[in-house]
Amino acid sequence: LRIRIHRGTAEIGGNCIEVAAANSERIVLDLGRPLWAEWGQHIEPPAAPGFGEPDPSLLGLVITHPHLDHYGLAAELKVDVPLYVGEEAASLLEAASFFSPVSGRLKPTGFLKHRKPFAIGPFTITPFLNDHSAFDAYSVLVEADGERLFYTGDLRGHGRKKKLFEQLLTRPPADVDALLMEGTHVRASGAHDEAIFDTERDLEDRFVSLCKETPGAVVVLGSAQNLDRLVTVFRAARRGDRDLVVDLYGATVAAATRATIPQPGFDGLRVYVPQRQRVLVKKAEAFWRVEQIKQYRVFAEELAANQDKFIFHVPSSTARELIKSKALTAEGVVAWSMWEGYLKTDSGVGLQKLLAANEVRLTSVHTSGHASVVDLQRLVTALAPGKVVPIHSEAGDRFSELFATVERHSDGEWWEVRS
Ligand SMILES: [Zn+2]
Repeated sequence: LRIRIHRGTAEIGGNCIEVAAANSERIVLDLGRPLWAEWGQHIEPPAAPGFGEPDPSLLGLVITHPHLDHYGLAAELKVDVPLYVGEEAASLLEAASFFSPVSGRLKPTGFLKHRKPFAIGPFTITPFLNDHSAFDAYSVLVEADGERLFYTGDLRGHGRKKKLFEQLLTRPPADVDALLMEGTHVRASGAHDEAIFDTERDLEDRFVSLCKETPGAVVVLGSAQNLDRLVTVFRAARRGDRDLVVDLYGATVAAATRATIPQPGFDGLRVYVPQRQRVLVKKAEAFWRVEQIKQYRVFAEELAANQDKFIFHVPSSTARELIKSKALTAEGVVAWSMWEGYLKTDSGVGLQKLLAANEVRLTSVHTSGHASVVDLQRLVTALAPGKVVPIHSEAGDRFSELFATVERHSDGEWWEVRS
């Protein structure tokens, strides 16, 4: 088995890994958009045969999870390559595409299922459902020619599905020759190595406190596609004796996954349709979208008259409208529930000014979608691979200080899984 990482050995995001068997047949794991790419900026797919022109030796593309930095370029491919992804991940992206122009759509050939091996030519792929901030995310074991590669994708051990991480440690794949491991939290500075992150349970408790101590609305600003967080906020709403309000985008994405995810029809879940979504629906004449949530719909007047009865899980772009309609006032609080770095962007700074001008308190309630260094060390110990190769990290040079048997490679370089 030979590997060529096209992108990811020296940066977080844009993952793309080409895997070649002895007979020269190939598969590719992830085909992400780099995180540094601007919205709308065209990025060429990596220079692997089969991405520009059709090439029969490229047998398939496996997408580990529905984050743009792992699937983004796959959604833009001009050639047809058989594509494998989680079934719920695919329906989530399909549902999101109506609302979010940056969200791509995939046309899957087959679906990944937890610990169910399947064949693509000479390759046997075994997906391992994992704990990550993206829904329906997998790590994958790739076997061919008697050699074994394990690729973590993105994962963590402190989310709502942390049992899956523990299961990976107690029942790991055997005889892994190479572990291609994400290192989002391996940083240039060692000060971060010991960091331990809040669990989604911890966040739930903090949201409950906010519900209880806030005389106005609790507005959680997060990603509609982070369903772990949606579950966390919904549970907090029940415990804090408030109704959860999501927007039409959030409601649609949640309903596209599985019946256990909070969605319209759940007791105490209401749907607010912001102005820009009303316009979208009207333009597309997709009135059924509003019709089907009619029973659960909540309007600005009710929100404004009962501020202390609601907690929201909505995108940051909705804050302005909630302030304008007096659903969110100085009595309320905004909980930032995304990466804090976004607060430093132009729109983040604009939001902070808006909140300050309206005397709305801003607090941060978030936890990482990626494993701590401590959990990565536990993973390496459990798998005891022949070698550990860094990916999805800005500090691959620090891996050898933290893990045994590290072997670094550069973007574009071919290397052997077993050597
Ligand atoms: Zn991810």
